[in-house]
Amino acid sequence: MSSSAPQTPLDIAVVGGGIAGLTLVIGLLKQNIQVICYEAAHHFGEIGAGVGLGPNSVRAMTLIDPAIKHAFEKVATSNQWESKKNLWLDVRYGEDGDEKGRTGKLIHPMECPGGQAALHRADFLDELVKRVPTNIACFGKRLVALEDLGEEGLRLKFRDGTEATHHAVIGCDGIKSATRQYILGPGNPAAHAVFTGKYCYRGLIPMDKAEALLGEELAKNNSMYIGHHKHIITFPVQKGKTMNDKCLSRFCCRLKLSGLASKDERSVSIKLKSHYQSQLSTLASLKTISP
Ligand SMILES: Cc1cc2nc3c(=O)[nH]c(=O)nc-3n(C[C@H](O)[C@H](O)[C@H](O)COP(=O)(O)OP(=O)(O)OC[C@H]3O[C@@H](n4cnc5c(N)ncnc54)[C@H](O)[C@@H]3O)c2cc1C
Repeated sequence: MSSSAPQTPLDIAVVGGGIAGLTLVIGLLKQNIQVICYEAAHHFGEIGAGVGLGPNSVRAMTLIDPAIKHAFEKVATSNQWESKKNLWLDVRYGEDGDEKGRTGKLIHPMECPGGQAALHRADFLDELVKRVPTNIACFGKRLVALEDLGEEGLRLKFRDGTEATHHAVIGCDGIKSATRQYILGPGNPAAHAVFTGKYCYRGLIPMDKAEALLGEELAKNNSMYIGHHKHIITFPVQKGKTMNDKCLSRFCCRLKLSGLASKDERSVSIKLKSHYQSQLSTLASLKTISP
């Protein structure tokens, strides 16, 4: 160790306890690095629906800490058909613009080794939380400012008036990151998230209902339906918590609309024309998580 090395063990602050923050915390602890996670909310929690991950992310989990991969495996759901285990998703027609009746038909199967595994974010976060010691989490700590103390490290200032000092701070505080503003400077346009004009509607539908509407192949395996300025992605998530309970297997319908300016145009656009499309929009409206 050189003479310039810190006299006390390296001590890191992670700001934000979402999937990124907790994954990092687990990785740092694996390397025996002292870490505290400052989370603005009063507990770790996720409000999102399904998220799809590819083999590269799964490999990264193993490299960071096999415990993360185990957490992932507990909640991940792949395509349900053995014949589609290496399928990322089936790209399908989502509209029948030229009246050829192709809606729902396959355009191209996108494949990769291991395919795409999907999970419900809240389930994954819960599994990560189980692998994080309780004494490293500080809740109700919304970072509002950072101050560079030179060799002393960095001072974090929180909205509740408290402060903390660490050798280094790593921002995992999401799309509206306060740490990004500190690093780039508040005047930098890249420091502020900007609305892109895209909307995403998400819903979770019990698998039996999805199957009744779409049939087994489409409900139990990943598909993307391409339309004009919009697409719909469907994939199974949340495999059963017990072997006996099939109903816990669920189906996530993610409807993404882009380039549409007003709420009215959006609602018109989701009144999909064909019978097939109306089935999908019914699925999407059964339980909308967030627009
Ligand atoms: C509709 C949709 C679909 C997506 N689909 C996919 C997909 O299929 N595959 C994929 O890989 N990704 C997908 N993503 C992206 C992925 O979900 C996000 O990149 C990921 O969840 C971000 O995790 P995070 O931990 O970085 O941030 P977040 O989950 O936003 O967590 C940030 C945490 O920081 C806390 N925080 C915020 N500000 C402060 C502060 N000032 N002080 C302290 N704490 C703070 C918050 O409370 C929160 O707990 C999707 C995103 C969306 C919106």
